[in-house]
Amino acid sequence: MATTPLTAPDLFTSYRPYWAKRLLPAPVLPTTREELDQLGWEACDVIIISGDALVDHPSFGAALIGRLLEAHGFRVGVIPQPNWQDSSAFQTLGPPTLWFGITAGNMDSMVNRYTADRLPRSDDAYTPNGAANARPDRATLVYAQRCREAFPEIPLVIGGIEASLRRFAHFDYWSEKVRRSLLLDTRADLLLYGNAERAVVELTHRLARKEPIHTIRDLRGSAYVCKKAPNEWQIHTVNDPDSMGPAAAHHPHIALQLPSYEQVRSDRRLYAQASRWLHLETNPHNARRLLQPHQNRLLVVNPPPIPLTTDELDRIYELPYTRRPHPRYGEARIPAYEMIRFSVNIMRGCFGGCTFCSITEHEGRIIQNRSQGSIMREIETIRDEVPGFTGTISDIGGPTANMYRLHCRSPQIEASCRRLSCLYPDICPNLNTDHSALIELYRASRAIDGIKRVMVASGVRYDLAVTSPAYIKELVTYHVGGYLKIAPEHSESATLSKMMKPSLSSYYRFKSLFDRFSKEAGKEQYLIPYFIAAHPGSDTEQMVTLALWLKQHRFRLDQVQAFLPAPLALATAMYHSGYNPLKKLDHPDTVYSAKKLTERRLQKALLRYHDPKNWPIIRQALQQLGRADLIGHGKQHLVPPPKKTEPPHRHHSRQRTILPNRRSRRR
Ligand code: SF4
Repeated sequence: MATTPLTAPDLFTSYRPYWAKRLLPAPVLPTTREELDQLGWEACDVIIISGDALVDHPSFGAALIGRLLEAHGFRVGVIPQPNWQDSSAFQTLGPPTLWFGITAGNMDSMVNRYTADRLPRSDDAYTPNGAANARPDRATLVYAQRCREAFPEIPLVIGGIEASLRRFAHFDYWSEKVRRSLLLDTRADLLLYGNAERAVVELTHRLARKEPIHTIRDLRGSAYVCKKAPNEWQIHTVNDPDSMGPAAAHHPHIALQLPSYEQVRSDRRLYAQASRWLHLETNPHNARRLLQPHQNRLLVVNPPPIPLTTDELDRIYELPYTRRPHPRYGEARIPAYEMIRFSVNIMRGCFGGCTFCSITEHEGRIIQNRSQGSIMREIETIRDEVPGFTGTISDIGGPTANMYRLHCRSPQIEASCRRLSCLYPDICPNLNTDHSALIELYRASRAIDGIKRVMVASGVRYDLAVTSPAYIKELVTYHVGGYLKIAPEHSESATLSKMMKPSLSSYYRFKSLFDRFSKEAGKEQYLIPYFIAAHPGSDTEQMVTLALWLKQHRFRLDQVQAFLPAPLALATAMYHSGYNPLKKLDHPDTVYSAKKLTERRLQKALLRYHDPKNWPIIRQALQQLGRADLIGHGKQHLVPPPKKTEPPHRHHSRQRTILPNRRSRRR
């Protein structure tokens, strides 16, 4: 049965501006008491604590939320990267009149601070001069504690990617534990997840009208903790969410209860089941309210926010950002800003559903597009106002380069759909794959006076691109600077199926078109493929096959990455539980994951089979696999034999190369 698509009140025109509108906008969002005084403000209405340096640009969450609330008449201050050892740093701007917002920044703080091998990173792209250690581990939690100490009576709201992906009980790779929802640990009043603009605006106006925060329980994209569910709720705990009746939108009292924190902590199969269920409840048009007991408390996660309209997104991106780091940083360079200062974000969301990625869990599957006019105006602003611009737009893209204006053919079908991906296992017949709006956008951007080149650096989803040879032609003729990065991620279908990625056949189709159009354009251009080592499903044998494929195609990769289990991702559920949440768990499908550091490093080494430093461990692995036939000097060999003078490879006993124990795969 088709579901009626939902709409929401307009983000800008449905609210009466707050009284402080006459004091705004601030030329620079204030970060100190002196800056408040210069603005003539007695206090801020909202203060955002952020793990990132403050860059007044729409790609940085604190600035975007600050400028959006300013448009509604609220005075917003930001405390970027405070000293978390001392609550006085959180008192810099005094208490806000309405609420404190806490965000770890644009990245989860543990991903920011540690590598996939759990080693500390030596730098931080979101800090002046890339300095490490400007934020704590689990920044949202630490900042929330300091805020509570500083001003215990002020409403506390957590948000941003860290809170968003840790809204349920979740596996935490860094502590190897299933942790509670971040709401329980922080004891915040509310958690806002996903694209939080609607919830932030609604919440702030209601707090300004003196509604107590503990009574605000109906915001989409919010989560809270209570003692028990209201009596009128219909709570379902059945095994099959697809047979669960109407969506919350059409039945406001329906709720789906996930296994409790205690259950998912002790039972890996239930963890996988909970992961499957919550991922089936991400379409805002049909998602139901989700409940998860934590001891004697109940976590309530309301359905996701209604996607922003094009007009709303345009207005958000055209707020009066300075498009520069805050003046407090002087000449210091902030690497993440340097990377995006000449780029333009054209859309949000992704319907690819790659299981290792968290974009869908955060931004949703429905693409939210800016208008061409708004994007052109931003390019002109960069040209006219951003220091150092030399005529090249470094990227015109988004989470995926080529999903601009792509959508389900029918809003009604889209509203009732529960598929995890519009592209996997095959492109859905209901998906409109017409790339003409994107081609038109590229052409218009190149035609702007003073723009010499417009590059596409966002990842191209090549299985989608091959449906539009005209798009590939436009891309390779005008928007590739010699190399184009694409992400097959693996060669073997057993792993690709765990990633929800297409088979290599679409890669070959894309490469053939890429080569043909590059030649026609008289350009020598190359594809740079990216692969992930140690993804769930990938064992050493599969990695050897992938390494042979790389050698056969003469790829010598410089940079390789190992799977990093981000909170909430479906692949993380596979990694932790050993089960496959892509399938119903009444007949569980088990998944092998390389967890030992030695095996993860071996898988990475196989991606760099050409590096002599890796040859000893690769040889040893090949011998253990019974594939010594791949050691030799021929084309068919993966690595050469050791030189006579080369000492035999020895591992320290703790670093022995571990090959997968086949029996252990059958959990
Ligand atoms: S295109 Fe297919 S998978 Fe995507 S929303 Fe529409 S029906 Fe669902």
